[in-house]
Amino acid sequence: MEKGKYDVVIVGAGPGGVAAGIRAAEAGMSYVILEKGKGVFQGVIDSFPRGKAVYPTIPKGVDKPFPIQCLEPPKDKVPVEKYIDQIEKAVQSQKLNIVYNESFENLEEGGDGYVVKTEDNDYAAKNVILAFGSNIPNDLGIYGEAKAVARKLDNLEEYIWLTALVIGGGNAAADIVAALSKAKREAVSPMPVYWAHRKEMFRINKDTARDLGEELLLGGQIRILQGAIPKIGEVDAEGIDRLYLYQTPNRDKHNDVFMYQGMSFPMKNVIACIGSQGPAEVFNQLNLKQVAREGGSGKSGSASDLLLLLDESLQTNRKGVYAIGGAISPSIMEIQEDGAFQQKKHPNLIYTAIEDGVIAMDGVIASGQAGG
Ligand SMILES: Cc1cc2nc3c(=O)[nH]c(=O)nc-3n(C[C@H](O)[C@H](O)[C@H](O)COP(=O)(O)OP(=O)(O)OC[C@H]3O[C@@H](n4cnc5c(N)ncnc54)[C@H](O)[C@@H]3O)c2cc1C
Repeated sequence: MEKGKYDVVIVGAGPGGVAAGIRAAEAGMSYVILEKGKGVFQGVIDSFPRGKAVYPTIPKGVDKPFPIQCLEPPKDKVPVEKYIDQIEKAVQSQKLNIVYNESFENLEEGGDGYVVKTEDNDYAAKNVILAFGSNIPNDLGIYGEAKAVARKLDNLEEYIWLTALVIGGGNAAADIVAALSKAKREAVSPMPVYWAHRKEMFRINKDTARDLGEELLLGGQIRILQGAIPKIGEVDAEGIDRLYLYQTPNRDKHNDVFMYQGMSFPMKNVIACIGSQGPAEVFNQLNLKQVAREGGSGKSGSASDLLLLLDESLQTNRKGVYAIGGAISPSIMEIQEDGAFQQKKHPNLIYTAIEDGVIAMDGVIASGQAGG
């Protein structure tokens, strides 16, 4: 069904999309936010472990406060559920125009702008802001993992009475390790949480590290496996899908023998949290220009080597189409004034997504592509 024409259609009601919607409402523009989930901040609800503290992190080197105060996570790091309550209240009090259970599928040229297509409806728009985050989890590349290995912590209780293995070296994995350890400690479960990363160094931010340290001091049973590489998936003699993890081999220089130290876990005990792929394929399908990153893997056309080309308002090569937030993290290719491209870091944080929503909407206003 054809819906009315909007100055701007925003795809995704996460921190970026909601910020853009608030800014559009303030500027008196006609707008709609399309969200595939059933509630606001569905992406956060789906990806944060239950009870996880939300950090109001401001990127390094930035000294400006959150650009939209009602979306700022409280300084005292409240659990995600409480933060979602705050956001629901803000959305209600601002009477934001969000349509839920509406999943974006495509973008076509039409009239003097675009037609945003969902499964059942067409929305005509002068401008489009893509704020659909980045939630396509990476695979371990292990036989059998797709059906057996979890990508996020859906049900914490399931892991309390078994030895859990969390794989991944970043904040998302660390949050899950801390949440599991706390739940096990409170239930007085003797079963530890193993935390494995293929590298020696774990890359986590200060707040997450502090929570993990506190958890260890309180008696949390966290066993760290550095240089641990998931190698094989196999069904054992009892029919259990298992994942084998090997730590970096010691090589016996004299006779070319490798000595491995390994462990095996039932796949149902494993949560793999090894990052997500940017939506490069979706951008490609939408004909949005992407450019090879500096120092990429060199495999031509590899999606992970491509960065979206954006101007300073976060506008893509298609006039009036903007991309923001998690969807364009962790890096973008920015067009400079002289037309050259420059690779720029773009941290995947609530702050950044909110700031992007404001920048993109101010770009829409400045372009004059809104209103009557
Ligand atoms: C485990 C974990 C912990 C984190 N902890 C913190 C933290 O403490 N502090 C912090 O600052 N950041 C944290 N982050 C990062 C933060 O969640 C993201 O930076 C932020 O959510 C990005 O906002 P966004 O609006 O760009 O994307 P998202 O929050 O992903 O929102 C995108 C929205 O778009 C919707 N959507 C997706 N596809 C479609 C479609 N086709 N059609 C319509 N809607 C669609 C999704 O349902 C979702 O609601 C954490 C991330 C994870 C994974």
